[in-house]
Amino acid sequence: MTPIDLHCHSNLSDGVLPPAEVVARAAARGCQLLALTDHDELSGLPEARAEADRLGLRFINGVEISVTWRKRTLHILGLNIALDNTLLNEGLAQVRSGRTERAQRMGESLAKAGIADAYEGARRYATNPEILSRTHFARYLVEIGAAKDVRAVFKRYLIKGKPGYVSHEWANFADAIQWIKAAGGLAVIAHPGRYDIGKGLLLDLLTDFKAENGDGIEVVTSNHDVDQIRQFGLLAQQFDLLASCGSDFHAPGETWCEPGILPDLPYNCRPVWERFN
Ligand code: AMP
Ligand code: MN
Ligand code: MN
Ligand code: MN
Repeated sequence: MTPIDLHCHSNLSDGVLPPAEVVARAAARGCQLLALTDHDELSGLPEARAEADRLGLRFINGVEISVTWRKRTLHILGLNIALDNTLLNEGLAQVRSGRTERAQRMGESLAKAGIADAYEGARRYATNPEILSRTHFARYLVEIGAAKDVRAVFKRYLIKGKPGYVSHEWANFADAIQWIKAAGGLAVIAHPGRYDIGKGLLLDLLTDFKAENGDGIEVVTSNHDVDQIRQFGLLAQQFDLLASCGSDFHAPGETWCEPGILPDLPYNCRPVWERFN
């Protein structure tokens, strides 16, 4: 196992713990290098860094940007970014305002399926009113008994073709990579195994990502099995991309896994953290 985690969430996006508690939880599990990567949001990073300094673990500023590539939604991690870059901050502010408008449409879609007031319900679960995510809707749907847990909600609602799903235009793929690079960071494709794309499209994605100066892919993440870890490790090598690892922790016992420590990268990978200075 590797005591490094470069992907997790606080309650400034769709996690449930405040940034300092996420850091403390990772530290308690033996983490030595951590990045907080809230969706489209940087505001939790100073608190997380302060707690990491206090506990003596190394901290990296991160973000997980929602992007649209060929009409599909993907997530791009920005690792080791500067907090004061105008291009990145303005870009993220625009993505956040799109989230609010989308959440209202999600509420309308659920209302048509007989679930009233979901927008208001989801808002109660969001600590940060600028980041309303499907996860907040999912927690509300569990509360009203529409499904037994968050995982079950995502089988019946909020995904393409089901009530509560609305299409949405996120940040442009190339723009998001540019914002990350402008802020001095490394751009990493998050959880590639979670996208519903075949091998041909995956190769197109990696080709486009390289052409836009993308840096790496998340080879180890909580929902990749050993075959996927091997497969994405080989693709990283083939495309000359760095490899990252992250838990995608959101909430104790909810989905994905606990933060702080992850399976080792395959031996053939070049770890992204070797590029942090
Ligand atoms: P959004 O960015 O608002 O579309 O919400 C995406 C978030 O929903 C992801 O970051 C996950 O936290 C959560 N999510 C997506 N799919 C699932 C799933 N199948 N089970 C549990 N959580 C999910
Ligand atoms: Mn999330
Ligand atoms: Mn993601
Ligand atoms: Mn994530």
